[in-house]
Amino acid sequence: LIDTHAHLACDSFLKDWDEVVDRAIESGINGIVCIICESKEMEVYCRIAEKYNIVYGAVGIHPHDAKDYDKNWKMLEEGLRLPRMKAVGEIGLDYYYKNSSIEKQRIAFREQLEFAKLQNLPVVIHSREAIEDTLKILERFNPIQGVMHCFSGSQETMERFLDMGLFVSFAGPVTFPNAKNLDILAKLVPLDRLLVETDSPYLAPQPKRGKRNEPGFLHYIVEEIANKRKEDITEIIRITEANARKLFKIV
Ligand SMILES: [Zn+2]
Repeated sequence: LIDTHAHLACDSFLKDWDEVVDRAIESGINGIVCIICESKEMEVYCRIAEKYNIVYGAVGIHPHDAKDYDKNWKMLEEGLRLPRMKAVGEIGLDYYYKNSSIEKQRIAFREQLEFAKLQNLPVVIHSREAIEDTLKILERFNPIQGVMHCFSGSQETMERFLDMGLFVSFAGPVTFPNAKNLDILAKLVPLDRLLVETDSPYLAPQPKRGKRNEPGFLHYIVEEIANKRKEDITEIIRITEANARKLFKIV
């Protein structure tokens, strides 16, 4: 089982990331993609990656930080030199928080997509209340190797992302009882494009809701998806792990 999106190097795991990873391993996790969003996280990532060879990395300028885009570009180049780096991300658009201007967000997104393409790396995409603009920008890069992280949207938009070759990843919200829309999406996404993630420390799944999320909680998400699809959980684990290995080139 691979957690394709966890902020393991962020402040909320600073004191106990080793215990967190140990618990994850005990729960059956054999891969974690650690998302690096700040330059101070690079050093923490190195320590984690040195101790645990099941931890991989992705680095990107988050839409929240697009305002300091020029300053942050260095982090992107430096980040990719760290061990076991597998992707550029998370990148994208966030019109909900709008911590950076829309214009800056679009530029940062576009340039990082170009950068990832040059490096032949997949992208991890964050899109919140910005689906139409996300699609518009991505269309120029079609086909794209990447994943729509913590996806929520209409069935129609999901199909447009799938048409571009993207994977679709579900996180804790798929376990929330009021998430009727995710119910439909989790049933409809083709198995060969399905990924799972915790987005730790955010968005803990229903049984742990309100607590700090961690990769060891991923099984709640997988169980819920298997239930919704009326499929065997071992099959969902097998296929999502194979998909993660394929996208992030993890051997
Ligand atoms: Zn994230």
